Amino acid sequence: MTATLIDGKARAASLRATVKDAVCELKASKDIQPGLAVVLVGADPASQVYVANKARQTEECGMRSIEHKLPATTSQGELLTLVEALNADDTIDGILVQMPLPDHIDADAVVKAIDPEKDVDGLHPINAGRIVLGKPGLTPCTPQGCVILAKEALGGDLSGKEAIVLGRSILVGKPVALLLQNENCTVTMAHSRTRDLEASCRRADIVIAAVGRPQMVRGDWIKPGACIIDVGINRVAAPERGEGKTRLIGDVAFEEAVEVAGSITPVPGGVGPMTIACLLANTVRAACRRRGWNEPAL
Ligand code: NDP
Repeated sequence: MTATLIDGKARAASLRATVKDAVCELKASKDIQPGLAVVLVGADPASQVYVANKARQTEECGMRSIEHKLPATTSQGELLTLVEALNADDTIDGILVQMPLPDHIDADAVVKAIDPEKDVDGLHPINAGRIVLGKPGLTPCTPQGCVILAKEALGGDLSGKEAIVLGRSILVGKPVALLLQNENCTVTMAHSRTRDLEASCRRADIVIAAVGRPQMVRGDWIKPGACIIDVGINRVAAPERGEGKTRLIGDVAFEEAVEVAGSITPVPGGVGPMTIACLLANTVRAACRRRGWNEPAL
């Protein structure tokens, strides 16, 4: 078997196009332009690239992007004061504080300070609780992207599927496991202490790999025909590209898995592009929800 490639880049582009249409409609019918505020503390190079990409894609979808770039010496109090000002600003619909924050700032306290109705990263305890309860809320972006890709690869209905999530982080593993349960999957949440991970994997119709270990999931761990969503982003040496060059690979041994799976996401070009697209969708949802309007189908 050769698996179907799940094209996250194309799916993200179509989601952004839907978001853009929804923004146009909001402007025309309600005279509002959703705004996303992104706060960056310090000058971490990777974070600077993420923030620039978020700002560009926000504007391409017709929304307002507001960037706050603060020095690494910013105190927790100063950051909390900015978050409170953004909470109170009615022209701001989404607030995202780029992680990681400098060590002297308590990231949990900052996330908790964000108005849950503007928490477009979906990390506030109230939004985490809503997922546990199966209630509507703002769901974290990467997990949301994983479920969209798995659903489309499997014909739109995940009911009754056996799923395994490798990893139990707050950012990816836990929320994606809960979202899959809300889609009526039977979910195993595996982690570093799981015994006989390979056997559990072999039972799964859906494998979500979010571990951060290059090519950990081998082809012979995979049930024939399974849907494989590889969240892992691992930078490894690529001497074949020249001295000192690197490349990105996932948590799944792609060349082996593609021979067994029914469908699989590549790395890069799979889950990665979905993350920002889901952030933009969350911003439109937040703009509608906090005004008590029905949200568009995204
Ligand atoms: P974390 O390091 O926070 O969590 C890793 C999880 O993997 C932990 O729960 C850990 O278990 C588990 N784990 C580690 N080793 C093993 C093992 N040998 N067997 C089974 N489970 C194991 O990582 P994140 O969740 O933040 O990220 C995971 C990966 O996803 C990373 O590669 C990251 O770069 C990528 N990522 C990609 C995104 C995207 O947009 N595509 C967004 C976010 C992350 P335990 O809890 O027991 O320690």
